[in-house]
Amino acid sequence: MKRIAVLTSGGDAPGMNAAVRAVVRKAITEGMEVFGINYGYAGMVAGDIFPLDIASVGDKIARGGTFLYSARYPEFATREGQLAGIDQLKKHGIEGVVVIGGDGSYHGAMRLTEHGFPAVGIPGTIDNDIPGTDYTIGFDTAVNTALDAIDRLRDTATSHVRTFVVEVMGRGAGDIALWAGVAGGADDIIIPEHDFDIKEIMTRIEAGRKRGKKHTIIVLAEGVMGGQEFADKLKEAGNDTDTRVSILGHVQRGGMPTARDRVLASKFGAYAVELLKEGRGGLAVGIEKEELVAKDIIDTLTNHKHKADLSLYQLNADLSI
Ligand code: ADP
Repeated sequence: MKRIAVLTSGGDAPGMNAAVRAVVRKAITEGMEVFGINYGYAGMVAGDIFPLDIASVGDKIARGGTFLYSARYPEFATREGQLAGIDQLKKHGIEGVVVIGGDGSYHGAMRLTEHGFPAVGIPGTIDNDIPGTDYTIGFDTAVNTALDAIDRLRDTATSHVRTFVVEVMGRGAGDIALWAGVAGGADDIIIPEHDFDIKEIMTRIEAGRKRGKKHTIIVLAEGVMGGQEFADKLKEAGNDTDTRVSILGHVQRGGMPTARDRVLASKFGAYAVELLKEGRGGLAVGIEKEELVAKDIIDTLTNHKHKADLSLYQLNADLSI
């Protein structure tokens, strides 16, 4: 392949810029031309496609967000949308595309592949909820952002002898809650993948208070319910501690990517280019047990589901006694 393109799509994640940089620099190193597509699939269909050179990705590695912008574009779920996108790519002489995004963006890449246009997916989402990889770009940064907030909330919780319900992102996957919860020494972690017993949580809060514990931190994944709803349930169950809710929200999506996310993004970006250079499309890149992997994107999306590491749930239960 001589000319490829790269886009970012769906929810943004810190480290996407580092991945675009890697795609551009590796492609140029390999003697290929590389084009950027603004606003994900919306820009593909609109023809918002332009050449990228070495300098265009200078000073981007440390920046959060995505300088190629992102957009939701439901029209790409239709055959007409997909074929219109492929027409635009062909008009620009592009032979393969790197799609950096989450589950929805991967579906777009899958459709391009089904229509015979080589696409390689790079997992970029803070939620870590993509099958075919242990980690996604942005997850480590989001966990560290949530952890920083939990550490701060613990300070003020202790001063005022309060309970804090900290709502973190994660609609279908509890990964952020699990990692930030274990790292932050949470009393309880509430995730979509595991039931919870509000009475049991109450008993543990009360036991802690009796032992002289001054703070309680409950980390709640947004997919279970809202933070206030959970605090209300605690109250109904008899919680009489001074309870506050902190919803971390979109702060988890921004900020400078951690070293781990930048390295991961650099590896993924360079690997995706190697695959396209060999003419291999229809793949999703990932990392498993620290090894780069490339899997069939259709099989990955159709037959596999992300699984959160539930050993962390048990670990936290064992440690937060
Ligand atoms: P994410 O990639 O973060 O999961 P979305 O679910 O919003 O985010 O998906 C991003 C974009 O991918 C959508 O706006 C749409 O353009 C495209 N997309 C999503 N689902 C499909 C699908 N089933 N088929 C084709 N394209 C899709």
